Amino acid sequence: MRCDCSERWLAVSLLLVSASYDVIVIGAGPAGSATAHYAAARGLRVLLLDKSTFPRDKTCGDGLTPRAVRMLADMGVLEALRAVGYEVRRFAVFAPRGHATAAPIPHADPMLPPALVVPRRILDDHLRQRATASGAEFVAPAHVVALEREQDSVVITAEHNGRRLHYRAAMAVIATGASTRLLLQAGVLRTQPKVMVASRAYFERVRDLSDVWMLRFDHAPMPGYGWVFPIAPDSANIGVGYFKEDRHTSAHHAFERFVHAPPLRAMLREARQIEAAKGYPLRDDFLTAPTWAERVLVVGEAAGLVNPLTGEGIDYALESGCIAAQHAHTMISSGDFSPAAHHAYDQALRARFQALFEFCWTVRRWAMRPWVLDVLVALANRRTDLRTKLAQVVLGGVPIRGRLTLGRAVRALMRAR
Ligand SMILES: Cc1cc2nc3c(=O)[nH]c(=O)nc-3n(C[C@H](O)[C@H](O)[C@H](O)COP(=O)(O)OP(=O)(O)OC[C@H]3O[C@@H](n4cnc5c(N)ncnc54)[C@H](O)[C@@H]3O)c2cc1C
Repeated sequence: MRCDCSERWLAVSLLLVSASYDVIVIGAGPAGSATAHYAAARGLRVLLLDKSTFPRDKTCGDGLTPRAVRMLADMGVLEALRAVGYEVRRFAVFAPRGHATAAPIPHADPMLPPALVVPRRILDDHLRQRATASGAEFVAPAHVVALEREQDSVVITAEHNGRRLHYRAAMAVIATGASTRLLLQAGVLRTQPKVMVASRAYFERVRDLSDVWMLRFDHAPMPGYGWVFPIAPDSANIGVGYFKEDRHTSAHHAFERFVHAPPLRAMLREARQIEAAKGYPLRDDFLTAPTWAERVLVVGEAAGLVNPLTGEGIDYALESGCIAAQHAHTMISSGDFSPAAHHAYDQALRARFQALFEFCWTVRRWAMRPWVLDVLVALANRRTDLRTKLAQVVLGGVPIRGRLTLGRAVRALMRAR
């Protein structure tokens, strides 16, 4: 039985309180819906819970990188999203002093769009529907407040309009994004991680938009950047994200400063801001984040899977959901819930993402300074190979094989000169 709407809650809840599942996925963002889709497609009995009824908004830049596009194609939702999204073919980086470099977004498959921008209200609802079409049950609003283990199961407690409901499953997948409350309650996280912060708003009647992702290091706090991502020929998602080292700047203040600085003021001369800017934190601590606990796997941003340089995480959310579903299937079909079986999931995530995150943290440490970015952008304008590397970094790839040290980076720069 599937349920998409809260009106049928009562009937469904009576059934579900006693029902038991193979996997309960908590959170129906990209990570949770991807997990639910891939797990249900493998024949597992899956319950997907979210505290919000859908469609719902999620504060985001809405940018889908080539990695995300590939995953959406794999999930069978790309064509529907392509019809409602905005295709982006190039990116432009503006240095702190304002000079720019631009290049096509590299992508391997000419049949796929290089990148897309799809408002999260639309994207997340498509992904959730994909999960239910594959066989997962969806229940919302179901705010999960507790996760407890019994001998051979997990029991999830969710709140719905003041009522508490209990669900049982062989295991749970936590996909609650940057919200850490459940991870702390369930003993997965012991301390509150440090976060990035970001704020964004939608604008219409924006001038000078084209099929370009604009990343601006001018008039944005360092380390961090501002973005202009078109969602239509004259509308855009505009925002600022940064790593909060300067305690005196709030995300709201950084956003206001960015949109009122000369470059954006020119683009927004006749524009209308559709609603107040919204801010939200980002967790990019994958290198130290726990990814499992007994009978629990953690996916997406709940596992710190947000790029520490670019702040994008939808692609890694989808990929980690796919990996978690494979491991959940193995654990459930073999009945092996040993630490080694959980650890295998962690190892699979580290094999996929560790090098990328180490690279991005190193670059963030030494390159996110105004003078370095000024030099890099100027050099990139003269060197195609540097522009390609920059594109890979901007799009969440690893352009240098092996460990990146400051020495290697300086030598690469000297060669580029
Ligand atoms: C301003 C901003 C701009 C960004 N721009 C981009 C971008 O352009 N491209 C990109 O790739 N990434 C971007 N990101 C990052 C991206 O938004 C996240 O990486 C992505 O949403 C993570 O997906 P997720 O499924 O892990 O978590 P989320 O998308 O956060 O989904 C978590 C879900 O869990 C639910 N939930 C939480 N707690 C509970 C609970 N206790 N019980 C039940 N349900 C619960 C929530 O309602 C939500 O639906 C941006 C982030 C911000 C803040």
